[in-house]
Amino acid sequence: MKDTAKHQGLRNQLVSTLQQKGITDLRVLDAIKKIPRHLFLESSFQDYAYQDTAFPIGAGQTISHPYTVAFQSQLLEIKKDHKILEIGTGSGYQTAVLCTMGAKVYSVERQNELFKKTSALLPKLGIRPKHLTFGDGYKGLPTYGPFDSIIVTAGAPFIPQPLMAQLKIGGRLVIPLGEDVQVMTLLIRKNETQFEKHELGEFRFVPLLEDKN
Ligand code: SAH
Repeated sequence: MKDTAKHQGLRNQLVSTLQQKGITDLRVLDAIKKIPRHLFLESSFQDYAYQDTAFPIGAGQTISHPYTVAFQSQLLEIKKDHKILEIGTGSGYQTAVLCTMGAKVYSVERQNELFKKTSALLPKLGIRPKHLTFGDGYKGLPTYGPFDSIIVTAGAPFIPQPLMAQLKIGGRLVIPLGEDVQVMTLLIRKNETQFEKHELGEFRFVPLLEDKN
């Protein structure tokens, strides 16, 4: 698994592209500058890893566009040692960005093939999430909550109630909502019962599906 000066150069260019597209959080940009995205992809896609594009990762799923990863990560407003719940581990690239930003990451994946592949890959890259789970993210991870922030990386038809319940007061839930096209939605928990809602543009994700596979 190689990371070369050429890859670093391509990453620097990707970071400039993300800045031009409006990403301003320097810790997000710094994480993207450091993480070898090509090593999260199958060899046939590695040459294109630093384009702002999604790619197949197996089991009918895709790694998100770098812009989408950056946009969602920025919305979480992560502070060091924040406890973050991620729904949809997939390739582990988003997990790696959050870990590199200093968060304690708990991530759930419902496809066993991807869960196993990514559980093996991350330690090899020196990325250490707190906990990776094979399970159904609709349920969240009640035994590990509540969380400072929650990120959902698949398109959800509605906001799963357990995720709202597992968010700390003041916490942020970032979730793409909708069937064919998703509206990036940010919920900020104001108190036990009230959430402030912000809608932040359209994106396209693979669907959030129920149950394990
Ligand atoms: N963050 C990942 C995104 C992968 S795509 C990356 O950049 O690689 C979304 C992922 O969510 C897929 O791996 C899919 O299997 C997973 N997923 C879909 N529904 C889920 C659910 N209910 N619980 C957990 N993971 C789910």
